[in-house]
Amino acid sequence: MSLSTVARYDDGRLARTDDEVVVVGASMAGLLAGRVLADYAREVTILDKDPLPDESVARRGVRQAEHVHVMLEAGRATLEDLFPGFSEELLSAGGLVVDGARDVRQHQEGDFLADGRSRFPLYCASRPLFERVVRRRVAERPNVTLRPNCTFTGYRHDEEARRVTGATVADEGGETTALDADLVVDATGRTSRTPDWLAANGYESPAAEEVTVDLAYSTVAVERPPDDRRALLVSPSPPVTRGGTAVPVEDDRWIVTLFGLHGDHPPADPGGVETFAEGLPTPELAALLADHEWVSDEVHQYPFPASVRRRYDEVGAFPDGLVVLGDAIASFNPIYGQGMSVAALEAVQLHHALAEGGRADLAPRFFEKADAVVDSAWKIAAGADFDFPQTEGPEPAGAGLLNRYVSRLVRTAHDDPKVAERFGRVIRLERSPTALVAPDVLLRVLAPASVRRFF
Ligand SMILES: Cc1cc2nc3c(=O)[nH]c(=O)nc-3n(C[C@H](O)[C@H](O)[C@H](O)COP(=O)(O)OP(=O)(O)OC[C@H]3O[C@@H](n4cnc5c(N)ncnc54)[C@H](O)[C@@H]3O)c2cc1C
Repeated sequence: MSLSTVARYDDGRLARTDDEVVVVGASMAGLLAGRVLADYAREVTILDKDPLPDESVARRGVRQAEHVHVMLEAGRATLEDLFPGFSEELLSAGGLVVDGARDVRQHQEGDFLADGRSRFPLYCASRPLFERVVRRRVAERPNVTLRPNCTFTGYRHDEEARRVTGATVADEGGETTALDADLVVDATGRTSRTPDWLAANGYESPAAEEVTVDLAYSTVAVERPPDDRRALLVSPSPPVTRGGTAVPVEDDRWIVTLFGLHGDHPPADPGGVETFAEGLPTPELAALLADHEWVSDEVHQYPFPASVRRRYDEVGAFPDGLVVLGDAIASFNPIYGQGMSVAALEAVQLHHALAEGGRADLAPRFFEKADAVVDSAWKIAAGADFDFPQTEGPEPAGAGLLNRYVSRLVRTAHDDPKVAERFGRVIRLERSPTALVAPDVLLRVLAPASVRRFF
């Protein structure tokens, strides 16, 4: 499911209860879960092991924070529903909006995609700024408490571990406290310990599907003339395993991230970064790096060995009083920019699951709804990764056929604005992948170029 098929957030659907909720992890998934739960619970505590200042900072617990973070339209529209005025607030805080149809140039399969026919706003900011604006809005809720410097150490539960009844946490000095809760939300990301806890307490741990991409990011910040709002994306396509992106952000900078799949990793030194960029199939990113001052020589790196999807939707039994969301369920190859938007749609699905049946049997109902969101994103990301023969893991059904079709679609999109626009809407999680094979696009993709001119 995508933005067009997940029912929008509707706070009128949910009556406030007397429940207390603890959310573990105050990154995007935890904050957004906390936001929707604030309409359901009497008290929501969102805790994190990191400090949570009212500033835009790259936190230790979010090691990916220095790297390009694109907010897809599915995420932006959902954030706007959850926090009316969010987009304007992002701009006031220094973010910027560009025309996604014309200011963003995407190079894939040997050429740039045609500009889309209709404008759409793409809101750009650093990852710490997105998080700060969301954190501030969540913290404004009178029944939400943020608890920084508070490390989750385990779940509290009844004797037979049929119900989670809270969490134990340690403060900076190591002192442990027990927190009671009617519902605990695990939003601790890829390092989630819930699978181990389930196994240790007599449950089946969710199967983990891993798609190995052996990816690494190298990122630098570059000075940007204030009126230059270009964004660039160079997507890898076989046999080319490398790509990169430059996104304009606050403080008159671009964040420039270079990446390489299957061991083709960008180096961590400035000279190496420039040389790597020169090896891209199009020169724009190398020129941008050469023509503009770098904010510093620091190169941030992030290794990403594999996308992981934990099949909570398939576990037979699960304790009451606990749900898991965000990267703790699925973390996707980041070059597709999906994680924050998937977390936002999952938070809305949590809201719908609560509205439809309350807290009783919440987990299986929520996991089914969350999986509908994950599945669409996974088909796009993990599916496309199998275009590379080096990719290992369980291949999504039909990926080979879809990849051959998408390759043809992308080449059509080089000079067909309608096809380029549809591709963009699917990539931005506005429309489900099936929209790529809707008759209006299918005809254009399959028709010879000489015939397509007449459409
Ligand atoms: C390199 C890279 C680039 C990315 N680019 C994009 C992009 O362009 N667009 C996009 O939408 N997404 C992107 N993502 C994904 C995005 O960062 C995540 O999907 C998003 O942050 C949601 O993750 P999360 O909140 O579930 O987990 P995380 O962001 O990993 O946060 C987990 C939180 O849990 C806290 N925590 C962990 N353990 C404990 C504990 N024991 N006690 C207390 N707190 C704890 C951590 O401090 C942290 O705050 C990218 C990811 C990577 C790795």
